[in-house]
Amino acid sequence: MTGRGQTSAGDLLELVRSGRATTRGALQQATGLSRATVGQRLDRLFRAGWLREGAGGPVGSPLGGRPSITLEFDDAHAVVLAADLDTRHARAALLSLGGEILAERSGELSVEDGPETVLAALGGWFAELLAATGRPARAVCGIGLAVPGPVDSETGRVVQPPMMPGWDGYDIRGRLARAFTERAGAPAVPVLVDNDANLMAYGEQRAGHPDCSAFVLVKVSTGIGAGVVVDGSVYRGIDGGAGDIGHIRVGADALCRCGSHGCLAAVASGGAVARRLTEAGVPADSGSDVRELLAAGHPEAVALAREAGRLVGDVLATVVTLLNPGVLMIAGDLAGTPFLTGVRELLYQRALPRSTAHLDVVTARLGERAALVGAGAQVVEYLYAPERAEARLLALGV
Ligand SMILES: [Zn+2]
Repeated sequence: MTGRGQTSAGDLLELVRSGRATTRGALQQATGLSRATVGQRLDRLFRAGWLREGAGGPVGSPLGGRPSITLEFDDAHAVVLAADLDTRHARAALLSLGGEILAERSGELSVEDGPETVLAALGGWFAELLAATGRPARAVCGIGLAVPGPVDSETGRVVQPPMMPGWDGYDIRGRLARAFTERAGAPAVPVLVDNDANLMAYGEQRAGHPDCSAFVLVKVSTGIGAGVVVDGSVYRGIDGGAGDIGHIRVGADALCRCGSHGCLAAVASGGAVARRLTEAGVPADSGSDVRELLAAGHPEAVALAREAGRLVGDVLATVVTLLNPGVLMIAGDLAGTPFLTGVRELLYQRALPRSTAHLDVVTARLGERAALVGAGAQVVEYLYAPERAEARLLALGV
């Protein structure tokens, strides 16, 4: 807030959005601004269409006197686009600013086809989603993208991603912004890129565990990755590498997609289980094939998923000891009872009782939509953070 306190229109918006101050009187009290100044700042937010009077009617004012009208963020004034790239499959959605999915589509899209092809295709998907809902392209305020690899959040580029050949250092933000502009005929909007496990963790924590101050999500699909949310923010480490647990050596000699031997992902991911099923005469090509076999209760798949869960649980004993989370969520293609049983067996056996005493080990709630919801929420938090909101208001001329 650079020495000016919580006084800009952007700051007032933040107070309203967070629920810390939702009436004129409460905003005066929180900021120390005069009634007239609060009124001027709020007028700018009303003119931008970002704020509306709440449906709840007047409430008692903390300053006494007349009851105050409650204020709320107007989450209908714009929309967000989000996409979630898996290795062979992708999902995209148009979301309200409040995180509601307004339209969704999914389909085959292989990251191995390279960024040029994949991002151009997503631009087309985004145009279709807008057409399906009748929303104009200019209503889109930003785009969020989840990718199955480590992302440098400064640049939005993936860094040596084992699952994404051809993507290393590629300008994903620039290409996706251009693909959207070309296909939807809209002005360029900000594009945010993050790792899929990070965005799933962010989406799931906000939706189902908002009071959990240390939250860990482990995604087990074709690869394995973890997202960590501490005090409501994604913890990424110094260059986006936090949570990349799939390449921890567990001592086996299986060759991993990263080029090393004995990685956790090489023995316990959906891809690894698929390979072992195929060797046992049950054809499976990917994590999603394993998911289908598990859903059908295939005994070989169930046994291998439980064994994979034990291998992951062994690594998670260390994760849990280090971070002492309140919730450990298992998500992705393998998330289900057999895998969870395996995780629990090893986790409770290997971790200190102290670090699991208040730990809930759960399965995902948003499921396949978690990364979309997380990506949309990240875009909203980015665009309406106080200083950026203030700059955008100025750009809108209000
Ligand atoms: Zn590896």
